[in-house]
Amino acid sequence: MRSVVDEVIAQVFELCRHDTGGAVADYIPELASADPDRFGICVVTSQGHTYEIGDSTAEFTIQSISKPLTYAMALADRGPDAVAARVDVEPSGEPFNEISLDPITERPRNPMINAGAITMASMVGGRNVEERFERVLSAYSAFAGRRLRLDEQVYRSEARTGYRNRAIGYMLRSFDILGSEPDAALDLYFRQCSIALTCRDLGMMAATLANNGVNPLTRERVLAPALVERTLSVMTTCGMYDAAGAWVAEVGLPAKSGVGGGVLAVLPGQLGIAVFSPRLDAHGNSVRGVQACRELSRLLELHFMHVV
Ligand code: GLU
Repeated sequence: MRSVVDEVIAQVFELCRHDTGGAVADYIPELASADPDRFGICVVTSQGHTYEIGDSTAEFTIQSISKPLTYAMALADRGPDAVAARVDVEPSGEPFNEISLDPITERPRNPMINAGAITMASMVGGRNVEERFERVLSAYSAFAGRRLRLDEQVYRSEARTGYRNRAIGYMLRSFDILGSEPDAALDLYFRQCSIALTCRDLGMMAATLANNGVNPLTRERVLAPALVERTLSVMTTCGMYDAAGAWVAEVGLPAKSGVGGGVLAVLPGQLGIAVFSPRLDAHGNSVRGVQACRELSRLLELHFMHVV
């Protein structure tokens, strides 16, 4: 028998399926050639029960959804005070790839924009980029509950064309935000963005955050509760690029999107949501991803300000 959640995700899928607005990211050929019609929704409860529809097993790259995960790793590796000394937690209201620091603190405004994310990549522990990337890949895999892989082609393209991110990295170095050579932090950042995963993986990652840092299927503790709280807080205020305010008002869930077309949203203690659809709006958020989350939030009454 189909459950209420199955009914709702089918309804939402049908409602959003016809929206062909937006355009796939085209700054590298690998993203430009993504099938724009792909669409998947996956809802995973904090007990690990999975509901999915559409292209939930198609692979895409995590892109900026990596940012909260690496932020969480930096917090775990270096502690909240050391992290706070390098990056603020204020919404920037600027595009994600803005080449700017807060004029007063001279720090990146938050870890969800590229300046903050590259800084966080520089704080992941490990002796060299290989070891640090292996730690990142293992951590992301633990969130997903299965071993993920690097999309080598996307990584090579990101690294080859990432002039703007390099400009950000060198700016960070000149302000002493990056303590070491910017290239190593940039390389780790390009790699973390190029990790391939499915909507189902993303749903399990969201459920791990919803389950206070314990993967509901493997039972592995991936993140300490205090760091889950901190990570979800920053996702709430800064996760949806410069559309974070409208997102909180309309959807009301901590979330992060990426230009690969993924959206991850979390209702703490209850469930995680993942949507994959590659066409993006002007902010860089998946058009159907935002619409599907808005409808799921409305129909399942998920807004965190909603009083039952
Ligand atoms: N690799 C992309 C960049 O840093 C990620 C962008 C995103 O998903 O927002 O430009």
